[in-house]
Amino acid sequence: MKDVNPDRVFIFDTTLRDGEQSPGFHLDANSKLRIARQLEKLGVDVIEAGFPISSPGDFEACRRIAREIRGATVTALARAVKEDIDAVWGAIKEAENPQIHIVLSVSDVHINRKLGMSREQVLKRGAEMVAYARTLCDNVEYSPEDAGRADIDYLVETVETMIAAGANVINIPDTTGYCLPYEFGEIVRRAIKDARGSDKALFSVHCHNDLGLAVANTLAAISAGARRVECTVNGIGERAGNTSLEEIVMLLNVRQAKLGLECGVNTTEITRTSRLVSELTGTPVQPNKAVVGANAFAHASGIHQDGVLKDRLNYEIMKPEDVGLSDSRIVLTARSGRHAFHHRLGRLGITLTDGNDDAAWQRFLQLADTKKEVTDEDLRKIAAMSETNGHEGNGHPPVTDQLNDHNHVADTLRHLIFG
Ligand SMILES: [Zn+2]
Repeated sequence: MKDVNPDRVFIFDTTLRDGEQSPGFHLDANSKLRIARQLEKLGVDVIEAGFPISSPGDFEACRRIAREIRGATVTALARAVKEDIDAVWGAIKEAENPQIHIVLSVSDVHINRKLGMSREQVLKRGAEMVAYARTLCDNVEYSPEDAGRADIDYLVETVETMIAAGANVINIPDTTGYCLPYEFGEIVRRAIKDARGSDKALFSVHCHNDLGLAVANTLAAISAGARRVECTVNGIGERAGNTSLEEIVMLLNVRQAKLGLECGVNTTEITRTSRLVSELTGTPVQPNKAVVGANAFAHASGIHQDGVLKDRLNYEIMKPEDVGLSDSRIVLTARSGRHAFHHRLGRLGITLTDGNDDAAWQRFLQLADTKKEVTDEDLRKIAAMSETNGHEGNGHPPVTDQLNDHNHVADTLRHLIFG
């Protein structure tokens, strides 16, 4: 599309459609609306609100999102049948910028085994439905499902047929997460280069993570000329999930100098969005998940902690503040060093008196060996005990009284220190 900044990548969020199709996930209309509002704050370009024909509840959720959301395009999914397209239009027509999204298979596996149709019939059906959708809405996206496993010449023919029928967005999906990055990049390159009329359409991609390649395949497609990416918060979605929104966005952001691309997402809303989706779907994020996992900005080993405390650049390629976290997490474990120990005490406003420092450090090491993580509460007790033992009559209550107030952590400490 000639009038669009060629360096701009548009973010299409499908958390509420593909993400919500994850096994065991269900979002009611209120939850969907809360997530849509947060996606609006996050600054995504397109929100796919749902699959309106699937249930009255989902139709209503899509309608409420379309009425309320401003700024982002609101779309919803239809199979290539009139009833689905009518349901989508009924649900989203009040949106500021509505879009109808039509999906129909393109691979021979799907055409033969799922649809029981011929290639010619599929082309005809797709074109008719795109043309029908265009009588309702100016903005129509066509997804040739399972493009990653399709015959490339037939895919090219499909793309040019749908553009001629009126589709202004062509989305190339690797529905089964099967492609290698260079293969997928080549598919997208061929679709853009060989399909007549491709300059009239925006090219989008939709990748699945069955082999852990969704983000890599999406990046390969962007390098091949795609300028819209479908993704989900926390990477949720069918089976192993979709391209993770936070990963592709931070990839564009952190490697901007190399890639030369930009997107409109306000990255400081990423953590808040991730937590909301996790809370409302009842599904925790794996701790080592890139960007939004609890450990993504946590440092536990002494060598890394010392390095990060000297200069974050030593072990961090992005700032926690950029994704909406207040700070890196210096986790105190048995592998931590004294630099980290003093850093955490300092953050609690605790300064140890000269001479008590060694005793406190030894207490810390003893305790750290008995548990996964030493907490702020543990640190306060260690400091109090060290100071009390070193300076009698300094006004602190006796150590044993303090310990009686506390939980099993204190019991562990008492056992360790007093035998
Ligand atoms: Zn999908």
